[in-house]
Order: sequence, then C-alpha cells, then structure tokens
Amino acid sequence: MDLYEYQGKELFRRAGIPVSEGRLAETPAEARAAAEELGGPVVVKAQVLTGGRGKAGGIKLAPTPDEAEARAGEILGLDIRGHVVRKLWIEKASDIAKEYYLSVTFDRGAKKPLFMFTTQGGVEIEEVAANDPDALVRLHVDPLEGFQPWVARRLVYGAGIDDPGEQKQIAAIVEKLYRCFVETDAMLAEINPLIVTPDGEVKALDSKFTVDDSALFRHAAIAELRDASAADPLEALAREKGVTYVKLDGSVGILGNGAGLSMSTVDVVVTVGGQPANFCDLGGGGNAQGVIDALEVITRDTQVRSIFFNIFGGITRCDEVARGILEALSQMGIETPIVVRLDGTNAEEGRRILQEAEAANLYVEPTMLDAARRAVELAA
Ligand code: GDP
Ligand code: MN
Repeated sequence: MDLYEYQGKELFRRAGIPVSEGRLAETPAEARAAAEELGGPVVVKAQVLTGGRGKAGGIKLAPTPDEAEARAGEILGLDIRGHVVRKLWIEKASDIAKEYYLSVTFDRGAKKPLFMFTTQGGVEIEEVAANDPDALVRLHVDPLEGFQPWVARRLVYGAGIDDPGEQKQIAAIVEKLYRCFVETDAMLAEINPLIVTPDGEVKALDSKFTVDDSALFRHAAIAELRDASAADPLEALAREKGVTYVKLDGSVGILGNGAGLSMSTVDVVVTVGGQPANFCDLGGGGNAQGVIDALEVITRDTQVRSIFFNIFGGITRCDEVARGILEALSQMGIETPIVVRLDGTNAEEGRRILQEAEAANLYVEPTMLDAARRAVELAA
C-alpha cells in the first residue's frame, strides 16, 4: 500500500525526522486559509500516488495566500500520469542549499533492508544509478544484527559529507528512518530530496512510503489511511468480491483457475498476437458464485472485447464451472463473446452443458491454443 506524501511525512514526524509544518486542502479557499495560518511563503503540492510531480506542474511556490489560492486552482483537477489531483498539501516553503537522496527499501534478492544515499538528490535515483553509480552509496542492514551506528556513519562518509553538523543530523535521520521502516513493516521509505537549508538544517522535503499489504492486519491505523477514491474502481470491486484481478491494457479478458494457469493464459494470448485486458484468477474453488463475481469484474472493464475462460479441472469440476457460466449469462445478460476451454475433471460433461445451452456468444474450443486464437479474433 502506497502512502501519500503527507501521510508518509506524518510517519516521519512521529519518528522524529524533521519535516516542514503543513496543512491539507481540497479547495482553493482551503489552500488560502492554510497559507494564512502557516504564515509566509508556502509550497502547494499535489497529493497523488506517483512521483515526478514537480516536473508535471504539480508543485508550485506561493509567496502569499492570494497566490496559494491561485496555484491551488491550477493544480486541483490536474491529471498527473493518470492520477487526478483531489488533495493538496500546503507546506511552509523551505530555502534549499543542497538536495540529497536517502532511502531504505527491502531488497528481496539479498533478503535484507538496503539503504541508498547520495548527495545527488532531487532527481530520479535511477538517473544517478545510471549516470554516476559511484555517487550512490548502497548498504545492507543485517536484520538479525539490527541497526548499528556504523551503518549511518558509513553512508554519510561514503557519500562525502564533510560538514560535521550535516553528518550528525543525517546519521540521526538514517537511524530514525530505519526504525520507522521496520516498525511499520514498510517495503520502501524514501526521502527525495533530503535538503540542507542555508542555515545548515537537514530535513525531509518529500516522502515516498510503501507498507507491505500482507502486514496491514497489524497496522490498523495505517490500513485506514487507504484512499478508496484513488483506487482503481475495478480493483476495489475485485477486492470486495475476493477475486484476484490485475488490470492490463489490452482487449482480451482473461479468466483462469489458479495463478499458474492464468499466467500461461496471458502468455498464450500474447503468443497468438493478442493483448490481455487483465489477469484474473478464479482460485481453486471455481463455484458458480465465484464465476459470477469474476465475470462481473471483467465485464465492467469497457476495454474488454472478448473473454477467454481457461479452466483446468482438478478439485474444481468443469461441469460446475459450466453451470456457473450459464448462470452468470442468464443473471447478467453478458453480450461480450466468451470463449471457453475446459480440460480435466468432468471436462466432457462441462462442454456438453455449454453446447446444449446454445448461447449465441459462447464459443467452446478444444485446446488452449485454439481458444486463444478464437478469443483474439473475436476481440479484433
Ligand atoms: P516530486 O517531484 O514528486 O518528487 O516532488 P518533491 O516534493 O520532491 O518536489 C519536487 C521539487 O520541488 C523538489 O526537488 C524541490 O526542488 C522543489 N520544492 C519542493 N518543496 C520546496 C520548498 O519548500 N522550497 C523550494 N525552494 N523548493 C521546493
Ligand atoms: Mn521527490
């Protein structure tokens, strides 16, 4: 689960990492009121779950409350790579002398948290890694050993920080960031930029924070931060129905039972020249209600032009899936062509049930490849 900048900064503030004071605003009038309350120049910052807001025009300085109101009017409603701005974070503006980068992520390969630190902040870290890899200090923390003060010192000296005031402040932030990362079961905690003001004060000017979904059950307060309005409505519906669903960009809706078969189905559709509209896994059950729920999610996607139903019966019986498909058709009045391939337990009976139904938009194919070709042809 990704957090908004203002939510991540609240976690930073609680962990003792310095951040600027700010207020949330959803209208230009609220932005003006926030600027008046904060006093002095402010920054108006789009709150969307994507980076690079600055370049996209989602971050503007406003020296007066009047200008805060005007900038808020410009930024609200802006589409930043598919994310429409509904909320703003109005923050006391900082003077910037230097921009650094600091993050800790979970490195799955090494099975350890990984710190990255560089004095070349403000730009995308991938850019630094590609253009000037020596400027990027990388350091793993052994989770059994836990955080040790030398980790912070090695990051700070490794990046060539020679000002003693900065060294001390950054080392303290590194330790607090690690604690915050572990305590919230985070996958990523990134500060870009970590700034130094002309007075030598170090603070977090941005926050990118991702918490492990699987750990949310033990972080109720963080789980509540999820913004349902920002989630893809189809993915929200799927979550509600307990259907595993990932939206993709193509036109062939894909439904399989089991993650492995569903992934192969995606591959075979691509192999025959099609583009999958989604990845949907019915799971092991495959009962009538599960089929109806999954079809409801898939048919809500207006990009879907045909549906490829790929079932391998094991514990799941193909005749039961076939009845589920027919029940879904009669309940929902689906007009999208549905191509079905059934194999395994009771496959013949399943195919017979479908054929006898004589539904105009139902196509039963003998193999996975035939079914993929037919689904792609029907989506064209
Ligand atoms: P991002 O573009 O989504 O990563 O958003 P950031 O919060 O990192 O802001 C982008 C850039 O805007 C920063 O790198 C800064 O250069 C600039 N910026 C943000 N806040 C301030 C501020 O308080 N004062 C000044 N002078 N610049 C800021
Ligand atoms: Mn940033």
